[in-house]
Amino acid sequence: MAIRFLDPILINQIAAGEVIERPFSVIKELLENSIDAKATELILTLREGGKTYLTVKDNGAGMTANDLNLAVERHATSKIPDNNLFNIQSFGFRGEALAAISSVSRVCVTTRQIGDPGQVTHGYQLKVAGGIKEDIVPVPFNKGTLVEVQDLFFATPARLKFLKSTSSELSSCMDVVERFSLAHPGLHFSVIHNDKTLFNTAKNNLEGLEARLNYVLGEDFSKSSIKIDHISEDVRVHGYIAVPTYHASQSTKQYIFVNQRPVKDKLLQTAMRVAYQDFLPKDRHPVCCLFIDVDPMLVDMNVHPAKAEVRFIQAAGLRSLIISLIHNALKENGPKTSVHLASAAVEAFSPRPQDGARSSIIPFSSPFPKYEGAQRGGERGSFGNLALQVEPIRCSEQHYTTPNSLVEQKIEPGRLPDVLEHYPLGNACAQLFESYIISQTNDTFFLIDQHAAAERILYEQLKEKYFSKTLSSQSLLIPEIIDLSPIDRDLLLSHQETLQTFGVIIESFGVSQLMVRQVPALFEHLPLKPILLDMLEDLKAEDISTALLERLLLRLSSKACHGSVRFGRKLDISEMNALLREIENNPGTSQCNHGRPTFIKLSKKDIEKLFERA
Ligand code: ADP
Ligand code: MG
Repeated sequence: MAIRFLDPILINQIAAGEVIERPFSVIKELLENSIDAKATELILTLREGGKTYLTVKDNGAGMTANDLNLAVERHATSKIPDNNLFNIQSFGFRGEALAAISSVSRVCVTTRQIGDPGQVTHGYQLKVAGGIKEDIVPVPFNKGTLVEVQDLFFATPARLKFLKSTSSELSSCMDVVERFSLAHPGLHFSVIHNDKTLFNTAKNNLEGLEARLNYVLGEDFSKSSIKIDHISEDVRVHGYIAVPTYHASQSTKQYIFVNQRPVKDKLLQTAMRVAYQDFLPKDRHPVCCLFIDVDPMLVDMNVHPAKAEVRFIQAAGLRSLIISLIHNALKENGPKTSVHLASAAVEAFSPRPQDGARSSIIPFSSPFPKYEGAQRGGERGSFGNLALQVEPIRCSEQHYTTPNSLVEQKIEPGRLPDVLEHYPLGNACAQLFESYIISQTNDTFFLIDQHAAAERILYEQLKEKYFSKTLSSQSLLIPEIIDLSPIDRDLLLSHQETLQTFGVIIESFGVSQLMVRQVPALFEHLPLKPILLDMLEDLKAEDISTALLERLLLRLSSKACHGSVRFGRKLDISEMNALLREIENNPGTSQCNHGRPTFIKLSKKDIEKLFERA
């Protein structure tokens, strides 16, 4: 067959395949255009999750008739005036969004440029359907630009089939709006879906990011997060990261922006994961709202058609900067546990109409779809997919304590103030079920999971010793022989050197056996095979890295803790206080190695709420 050039409409439809995936991609492109046009108000209207109808109306600069005509053409942009692709200051620059959208749907753009002599009394309107343009006509219009998109993918039925359910499309659209609204807390965003207002930010948001975060992520996030602000010569990293006990089931609650552009970049997501991995349970994800501002010359925004990924010129440096910033922030905020745990405890205690409804203390895991039918104007955000990791403390009969399971201590009022100053976890006053410590400061009550805390402390100490190479090990008087499958055995043998750094010395023995000659001093009396098998699983799962080494240490400390004296044992007051002081002195101990909190805090106010005094 003879080769010929593709028809321009076909070219646009092919391009649309890359840029326009689903309704949310249209929204993203249109919001970028409005923000580039310096709009301060962005009003969205959707029907059927944007599948049949979506509009974005802005109060930005608007276009002249001539610009309007060019705007829907491919490779036509007003945003690279100097032909330099590496100094991009705007969100758009590829000049293909409107062309792509209008090649696969029915688009109507109405615009008016205030100050344009041709548009003193009216604006202009252009309709394009499936890439076929009509003539521009004058129409009455106030200011800015209104883009209406109907019947997305009607012109490419194959793509139409890939659209998901209304609620799923809507939820992706809302995610985009949320991200843009966080990136631009000064702008007013609103969304109306099937005639219901789902999202409506303050018009003049003078409080900036914090108020916007409150609206989008909810107050619990604001109260459970740590502020980050770092400025160096060529980068600024700022925003808020959640404390580790406040986590999500997916990485979708990571709002990351590069030069105010929302991105879902692998490098940055990995950095987040690594920074938190020490603090979070497996399969849980950190929550953050983080802004990275770099010189536009140092980042390539053009590696992904929808610009969701970016390429940093100094990627490795940036990654380690982010990891260390977050890691340090988490460490410094050691004894801070997220507020939703206190609310959960308060809720668990509170009398409620149908008791036993345990799910009601998990306010955040509202079932999907999140937005369908929800009325959201003015009310603060709800947090999909967040589940509490704390078991509610319920007063059921079997839990009533008998006097001898409670070690009591009278608190001399005069002693508290100076205890307080130095000791955030206060003074131990009792132990429950040989597992939990109760302590108090002047205005706060703590319930501490003694085992979880002890395990975490052990881990921190082990890690410290490991990295300072002071981990002591013990030669076994009688070397232990362990049976393994030949594959497992060879795999462990291939990691002999790594294991040696932990003080584990193994040798090959027979066809399918291993001889263990030396173990870390802590494990002298523990069964070795399960420990080695666990380590083996980790070694199988990933290459040697700091992350892996830390995970191995985690396993070791958890095993070691079961042998420790603090595991399920009655402690006296001085032992309890000693544990509290250790928690305070060990950064990162507000959650245990499985990411569960090590303690719950209830303020006097919370307690007053329980008794309906407040
Ligand atoms: P790009 O944004 O990459 O330039 P688009 O196809 O999205 O490409 O838009 C083409 C051009 O149309 C833009 O460069 C801009 O000049 C104009 N334009 C699009 N949307 C708007 C808007 N909402 N307000 C003003 N001008 C707009
Ligand atoms: Mg654009």
